[in-house]
Amino acid sequence: MASLQLLPINPSSLHTSSPLLPILNPHKTLTPKKLKKTLPPLQSVIQWNRKPQLTGETPRIIVITSGKGGVGKTTTTANVGLSLARLNFSVVAIDADVGLRNLDLLLGLENRVNYTAIEVLNGDCRLDQALVRDKRWSNFELLCISKPRSKLPLGFGGKALIWLVDALKSRPEGSPDFILIDCPAGIDAGFITAITPANEAVLVTTPDITSLRDADRVTGLLECDGIKDIKMIVNRVRTDLIRGEDMMSVLDVQEMLGLALLGVIPEDSEVIRSTNRGYPLVLNKPPTLAGLAFEQAAWRLVEQDSMKAVMVEEEPKKRGFFSFFGG
Ligand code: ADP
Ligand code: MG
Repeated sequence: MASLQLLPINPSSLHTSSPLLPILNPHKTLTPKKLKKTLPPLQSVIQWNRKPQLTGETPRIIVITSGKGGVGKTTTTANVGLSLARLNFSVVAIDADVGLRNLDLLLGLENRVNYTAIEVLNGDCRLDQALVRDKRWSNFELLCISKPRSKLPLGFGGKALIWLVDALKSRPEGSPDFILIDCPAGIDAGFITAITPANEAVLVTTPDITSLRDADRVTGLLECDGIKDIKMIVNRVRTDLIRGEDMMSVLDVQEMLGLALLGVIPEDSEVIRSTNRGYPLVLNKPPTLAGLAFEQAAWRLVEQDSMKAVMVEEEPKKRGFFSFFGG
């Protein structure tokens, strides 16, 4: 049987205590039947039994970017950000998508944004007045650059964003562990502004050629800007299409972009539902596959870890749901 590329798995990225270990263990060749037997109940899957170790200088300033629009940058910022907060790290998410601000909507915080960064810079309010604390996780805060549908104000650029990041670092309550910057689509002024303060990038791509081309272009621009630490998230992956060779595999994507893989997020209708409810997917109970994938990506981000796409042999006529995980 021809081998198929399914979920990327890297043994080194799986911690012995990782609750997903029984699911993702690539060393054992499990049939879907055996795999079903070894699956822990979903509740135990989200019981992390250790805290990931934060590596690198803090605050980690990470831009979430893509080039192409609509591939999942804002969804990733919301879900990875809240996962980090749930792991007890302090997080500030900056919505730098000035024209199409929507991170506040995804987080269900839209009615609580009274001030924006522009007003802070104009001296019309204090920074803490523009920071919106999440209702569910108080160690997660949102900062919007400007009012919805407004244009990037003249004079607002990378230097202004660096000033804001410095102000966040020197708050009396201490610097956050993570500053996530949700980047606008495209590679114009808004993109340049958003990447300026960052020293790491998470590149979100979908497995299609237009998204990949933009991702490749953005990778070059990030490197020119001195951002060498670039990891990618492959979003909206559909194994049924990959099997039918109607979608590029994650392995193909990784070979084309040559970037470290932070996570693979399946296509999941729950993402759209949670977007509309303003309730990020990672908070869903019971957790969904996409939610768990975002949590794993957050875990890897903390530990500067990555995963590798692998080829797995698939048993003939046993292509059940659990073959998604390899084995
Ligand atoms: P961007 O910020 O890159 O423009 P968004 O995060 O706003 O993209 O996502 C664009 C659309 O795609 C949203 O409607 C979102 O719900 C949907 N989406 C993102 N990721 C997924 C996924 N894994 N499965 C299903 N829908 C998704
Ligand atoms: Mg967006």
